[in-house]
Amino acid sequence: MVSERMKGLGTARSVIRELFEYGKLRAAEIGAENVFDFSIGNPNVPPPAAVNETAVRLLREQPDLIHAYTSAQGAADARERFANSLNRRFDARCTPDRLYLTVGAAASLCCVFNGLTCPGDEFVVFAPYFPEYKVFIEGAGAKMVLIPPEIEGFQIDFDAFEKAVTEHTKGVLVNSPNNPSGVVYSRATLERLAAILTEKSRQFGHPIYLISDEPYREIAYAGVEVPWVPHIYRDTIVCYSFSKSLSLPGERIGYVFVPKEAAEGDDVYAAVAGAGRSLGYVNAPSLFQQVTSLCCDMTADLKVYEENAKLFTAALREMGYHVVEPGGAFYLFPRSLERNDAAFSERAKKLDLLVVPGSGFGAPGHVRISYCVQTETIRRALPKFQALADSYK
Ligand code: PLP
Repeated sequence: MVSERMKGLGTARSVIRELFEYGKLRAAEIGAENVFDFSIGNPNVPPPAAVNETAVRLLREQPDLIHAYTSAQGAADARERFANSLNRRFDARCTPDRLYLTVGAAASLCCVFNGLTCPGDEFVVFAPYFPEYKVFIEGAGAKMVLIPPEIEGFQIDFDAFEKAVTEHTKGVLVNSPNNPSGVVYSRATLERLAAILTEKSRQFGHPIYLISDEPYREIAYAGVEVPWVPHIYRDTIVCYSFSKSLSLPGERIGYVFVPKEAAEGDDVYAAVAGAGRSLGYVNAPSLFQQVTSLCCDMTADLKVYEENAKLFTAALREMGYHVVEPGGAFYLFPRSLERNDAAFSERAKKLDLLVVPGSGFGAPGHVRISYCVQTETIRRALPKFQALADSYK
């Protein structure tokens, strides 16, 4: 006898993974250059040279020490470097004792949901959303309350949001730049959100936390502002990852930051650390605690994502697809050319174009295109997108 929930999660692959695996099989049949895999968000630019050089140097200089256990919350020197970087760049008023290093944004989110959840608690999520949120929130014993998408600009449907916030709301999750829409929440959107949360916290007599999931914080296009969320709403908890900004998804490294000013901040930080302990997420990989903290003011060369975004958006619009302009990350979320996004994705698959149906992201009638690929791949894929559009005429 095993947990049915866990068995289900372990056997049912996500649609994204399903397409990704299909792409690999298909590439073996017809050649990788003939499969246009826009399914998964694996960064395609290398990390900065300094990342590998720092790793090699540390392995040479500290061959045994670098592999040793660190403090559960992460090595003090690494946390100090992260705090200094956040303070320099965002005036974050961060201290090392408010950072909890862990294995990527996924673990950061799990630590926060598990740390905050009391019986009956709910977390509000805006569609379209990263599908693992539901797994993480339900895994913590809480309920996910989904707000339908505002499909004109993928900002926030505030009427629906206000109705969804109740005395059971423990937190609200934002992800900007967003996976899967690529949209960045404007300062005005965040300020309106903050005003509502301040009012609702007062009305219900307890803090409602804003959990800012920021793995794409550094991937924002020219002229697009990504505001530092804790400056807009006091009770914010930041979940960060180096998977995308430094192109290190396989190294599993990121952090939770609980600002000093946040309500019951000491308890929240202690609960995050306790959740890390209970989930077995203590001591993030020690080599990469050091490497990322020594390289945390750098990013991979991210400009290809903006080039890809511009090229792809303009070409798809020209063909008649409806696409909301992305402000960052590396995803486009156009409308599918028929209401049934799964059928549309299947039709695309017949042309060896792999795009993910939007239903899994809470936004039926759309598909997600990950454009973290060579620009040349996009150029070669465009005739296929044209053929797909023509097949609906
Ligand atoms: N949050 C969002 C919105 C993501 O897109 C991802 C990964 O793609 C994650 C969290 C998890 O990132 P990590 O690799 O840091 O666990």
